[in-house]
Amino acid sequence: ELVALDRRHLLHPWTPHGVSEQLMIVAGQGCEVTDAHGRTYLDGRSGQFNATLGYGNKRVLDALSEQAGKLMTYALLGASNEPAVLLGARLAELLGEPLTRTLFCNSGSESTEAALRIVRMYHAISGRPERTTIISLADCYHGTTTAATAMMANPMAWTGCGPRPEGFVQIPSPTRCGACAAGAEHEECVVPGPEALEEAILAAGADTVAAFFVEPVLGVGGIRPLPDGYLRAVREICDRHGVLLVLDEVTTGLGRTGAWFAHQREGITPDLVTMAKGLTSGYAPLAAVTMTERIADVFATDPMLGGLRHGHTTSGHGLGTAVALSVLRVIEEDGLVENAAAMGDRLQSGLREQIGSLDGVRDVRGLGLMVGVEFDSMARGFEVQAACAAAGVIVRCEGTVLSVAPPLIVTAEQVDRIVGALRDAVAASTGEFPGV
Ligand code: PMP
Repeated sequence: ELVALDRRHLLHPWTPHGVSEQLMIVAGQGCEVTDAHGRTYLDGRSGQFNATLGYGNKRVLDALSEQAGKLMTYALLGASNEPAVLLGARLAELLGEPLTRTLFCNSGSESTEAALRIVRMYHAISGRPERTTIISLADCYHGTTTAATAMMANPMAWTGCGPRPEGFVQIPSPTRCGACAAGAEHEECVVPGPEALEEAILAAGADTVAAFFVEPVLGVGGIRPLPDGYLRAVREICDRHGVLLVLDEVTTGLGRTGAWFAHQREGITPDLVTMAKGLTSGYAPLAAVTMTERIADVFATDPMLGGLRHGHTTSGHGLGTAVALSVLRVIEEDGLVENAAAMGDRLQSGLREQIGSLDGVRDVRGLGLMVGVEFDSMARGFEVQAACAAAGVIVRCEGTVLSVAPPLIVTAEQVDRIVGALRDAVAASTGEFPGV
């Protein structure tokens, strides 16, 4: 009945019709979720990379109900509320100076949109209104607003959606295809390094570029970690040309890669950081853009308003921010950043050892608990996804890349179960679409 109602009344984001059997999830506890038939699955994907603490965490639920009973929210337009302030201060601690000022929003896409408008307005108010061009990687994913989709080269993001906004330039992604990463040398896999950014800045005219947006691991673009040193190199290039560096940590932030933020592994300081997903572990919708004081301070000098001309009724929602505070507390108290690093190593090495050389597997790669398995065909990926679900493990394939990203609370035994399910599924796979 639920499935029939769903088909009648819902639109699902980015879900091709009829590709996978619907998982009608009705309950969750720890790393497991239960569907309407009472079947239990190990969630090898943390929902949509967001349920970092898994489901039913008592400390988060207590914080949620306590805040709900006290004050659901009070909007930040000319006023403030307690959990929003405390969360802003906590994010500043986690990110470190000079990243001290935060604007809250509700989704990752909104955090991209906010960052985009902020970097352009920052330049305009500072007397550089011609600095509007936004550079991004061709295989990026920053969300589904009109501007965020304009940052993607993939025509699926914007075909049929009207004129594309101007002022967006994509450069080739600095990562090889899976086969090349595994040692093959495809001539077509030219691997441009950070110099592609400098070339694009010079081609556009250095005085016209506002910012470079980048994910530390291309997520939707195939779980492709940026090469070591890339972020350090682009930081230098941005500095040389007065271009702002925006790190999209919507998926990678808050522990997923075995560090609080993935860019901290490279020891760089971005100008702005966007985050969402793991910020509330899925217990409430919330996203954020944290920026340097230097950028934030400029808005007070805006001649039109004397403040930031952007934001939402629900920016800094009390429930969302209280939940985020408790999520960050649990991550710290339970050592989950460290667990993500250790379990990420176990997951990656387990997959490499057990499926890395099986037929149809091109590559196993990742950072911390954000792991991708690249197959030789989409059909094999979907076949493996379906076989894993039948074996009680949820993973998801997009294109030829299957992503594995269990909650940060995952145990060694659960990691081994995911690896075992994938091994059996790959070993039994034929490379044909399931049911064909
Ligand atoms: N940035 C990245 C890197 C993402 O992976 C996503 C979501 N997959 C977004 C932005 C958009 O976030 P949301 O779906 O919450 O709008």
